[in-house]
Order: sequence, then structure tokens, then C-alpha cells
Amino acid sequence: MPIKYLLREDQIPRHWYNILADLKSPPAPVLHPGTKKPVTPQDLAPLFPMSIIEQEMSAQREVPIPDEVRHALALWRPSPLYRAERFEKAIGTRSHVYYKYEGVSPPGSHKPNTAVAQAYYNAKEGVKRMATETGAGQWGSALAFAGALFGLKVTVYMVRISFEQKPYRRSMMHAWGAEVFPSPTDRTNAGRSILAKDPRSNGSLGIAISEAVEDAATHDDTKYSLGSVLNHVLLHQTVIGQEAQEQMKMAGEYPDVVIACHGGGSNFSGIALPFARDKINGKKVRLVASEPTSCPSLTKGVYTFDFGDTVGMTPLVKMHTLGHDFMPPGIHAGGLRYHGAAPLVSKLLDEGLIEAVAYPQRACFEAAVTFSRSEGIIPAPESSHAIKATVEEARKADAEGRTRVILFNLSGHGHFDLAAYDQYFAGKLEDFEYPREAVERSIANLPRVEL
Ligand SMILES: *Cc1c(COP(=O)(O)O)cnc(C)c1O
Repeated sequence: MPIKYLLREDQIPRHWYNILADLKSPPAPVLHPGTKKPVTPQDLAPLFPMSIIEQEMSAQREVPIPDEVRHALALWRPSPLYRAERFEKAIGTRSHVYYKYEGVSPPGSHKPNTAVAQAYYNAKEGVKRMATETGAGQWGSALAFAGALFGLKVTVYMVRISFEQKPYRRSMMHAWGAEVFPSPTDRTNAGRSILAKDPRSNGSLGIAISEAVEDAATHDDTKYSLGSVLNHVLLHQTVIGQEAQEQMKMAGEYPDVVIACHGGGSNFSGIALPFARDKINGKKVRLVASEPTSCPSLTKGVYTFDFGDTVGMTPLVKMHTLGHDFMPPGIHAGGLRYHGAAPLVSKLLDEGLIEAVAYPQRACFEAAVTFSRSEGIIPAPESSHAIKATVEEARKADAEGRTRVILFNLSGHGHFDLAAYDQYFAGKLEDFEYPREAVERSIANLPRVEL
């Protein structure tokens, strides 16, 4: 029995799959933060190139992938699909476990799938520089890499605490030629206003987003770039699921359940949406998003209009949200700390096309360690939530006396997250359940929207 299922370079998908074309009802509009009216392409033009804005609003089912983007993707794609034979033995299941491994990209996660596409469209429209934010550095390093491929300058606002505590992702961004600033900086009004109140601020993703957006909005040659949540980002990630469909055919199986971890929703959508298309067309398959109990936007969030950032500068989008003033608990090791879920994932959950589960971090690390000791790959802490959900699906199937075919997305490796593994081994990690009352308090402060 093969361990790996590999595709040829010419089997890199030729289009992205846009599930907007197959939804039962159109998605809720994105609202201008001031007027509360639907945003127009012109509203977004200072921030994104027009081709990206068109993709964000498009309902075209199959969007062709430009040759230049396929050529860049070919540096690491198609990514391998593995049969996790040793892991199956380690957890003692009769189910068949497959995983798609996105850690083979140069930055080590699925994120460059969209970074290279975004860099391509920006370069094509004459943009000289892209500004973005990064927390732990995965997205910043993916965009730095993509900028290097397409001759674009990249400016990264990196949350100060990560800038100081996680130096190696910063080093990667420098190696790929990006400039990286610890946020809050004195380069923007947003940063200066925070520093005036607290000169030693640790920063947050919300503040860094505000800085990157302001940088792009105030420079003609600069656009903003986001690594998850938005429709066009999810669209670019669908190469994952399309490849996995071909690879599952090679294995002669079709998954009963497809699983991925969920932060903003991009790697989950990447693997799940092509299977969701099958499901809409009558196939039986379950699609499960796995999130941390400390940041449970899908399982405890409210489906309503909220801002994308902390400060309230971005448009209002309808999504499962914990409230934009959500503060992730400091004890949490991994990523997956965004207050909202992708609007598209939120809609699919609302329509019952997908499911969501939540697990505490220690159980996820435990599953990740079992995985490392059987399959070899040390997973990113984010990806460990998919592994934990896989273990639970396998256990349920075993209890029912069934053999289930389980496919999960291993979104990245954990080579730059080993400090988190150290903390886990030292018994220093704590589990945390984000309380429902905190969600309710936060939701009560949301802007009223009447449509
Ligand atoms: C960023 C990241 C995630 C979470 O983001 P999504 O948009 O939910 O996919 C998950 N895994 C890895 C390895 C990441 O770098």
C-alpha cells in the first residue's frame, strides 16, 4: 500500500473553485463602516488591486489560475497526500486516515497558496509595495516570500510581543527581503495613538491590521494584503482540495469526513470547499472545522455583522464572531486567535453544509505528539486541532464498529513553534474555555445594522 500519493506538476489545478456560484442564497453584503450601506468596488480600491476586488465579489464558478501563478505554485505544488498508516496503528483505529500536507511550501504552511496569487495581481496592476500585518509570523513570511518572487516590496507590521519573542519568523522575512516593524510603530497615526497611551504596548493583531491598512491607504504605490477570512483568499486555497480529490481517486477511496483546523477559515475552505461542491451535487461527505475552545468563533460565536479589526476601521461583515474586542487568553500557545470566522464559512455553517467542533489545547498537543512519533512530521500547533478532531472521529467510528475514511489537512509544520512544544512538555500550558457571557457582553456592544 503506498504511503504517499503524488501528482505531476501538470496536474496543478487550472482554476480555483468559487462556491459562491453554488450557494442556496446570496451572501450578506459587506457594509461600509460609516454609512452601513453595501461597499462598492470604489470603496475598496485604495486597499486592493481591482482584479482582487473583482474576485472578492465574483460568483463565477471556476476562476482560471494565471500561468504565472501556477508556475510559482509549482515550486512546491502539488503537495503530497499521505496515508497515515503508522498513525492509525498508534491510535488503534480501523478507520483509514489520509492527510494532505501543506508544510512542504518554502514558508512551511498553506498560506503561500494565496500569497503568490495576491503578489501576482498586485505586480500586474503596477503596485510597488504590499503592506500587511502578522501575529506569530506565518502570514508575514508567506507574503515576504511571494513578494520576492514577483519583485514587490513587502512591509510587515508584526505584533511587538511576537517580534521580540519569535525572532526566527522575522529572520525569514528579512531573508526574503521584507521590512518588518514591531507594531505599534510611530510610522502611522494608529500606532502613534496607541504609543501615546502606552509606550510599552505589546501590540495586538487588531492594532497591526489598523497600521497596515493605514499604510496602504496613505501611499499611492502601496496596497494592503490579508492572509485569511476574505472570499478571494479562500478561493485561492481551493487548489488544496482539488488536488486531494485527485489523490483520493488514486487511493481508490472517497472520504466520509474531511477535517481541518479553523482560525480565519482559509485552510479549512481550501480542503473542504471542493468536497462541499460534491456534497451540493449529492455526494455524502461531512465537513468538519476544528477550533480551539479558547477562541471558539464557530461553536460559540454569534452570526451577525461585526468589524474585521479591533479599532473598527474595516467594513462590517456578517460572520460568526466573538466580538471585535475579543482578547485571546495569553496562556494559549498556538495561532487561531482571530475573533471572527470567514463570512463564507459562517454562511456554510448557518446553512448546515459544514460542522464545527472545539478542543482545548493540551488534548491537541497530545494528539500532535502521537502524530509526530508515528508519522514523523511535527505539526504546527494550529494543525494539531485537525489531528485531535481526526482522533475523535476515528474513536467514534470504532465505537460504532465502522471503518470510516477520514481526510484531514495538515496545514503546516511546527518547526518555528517548538517553544510551544517545550511549554507543553514542561506542563506549563493551560486549557481555557472562552465563556459564553464574555461573548454576550461583547456582542451587546456591536453596531446596529438594519438591512
Ligand atoms: C495561519 C495558519 C492557520 C490558521 O489560518 P486559517 O485561515 O484558518 O487557515 C492554520 N494553520 C497554519 C499552519 C497557519 O499558518
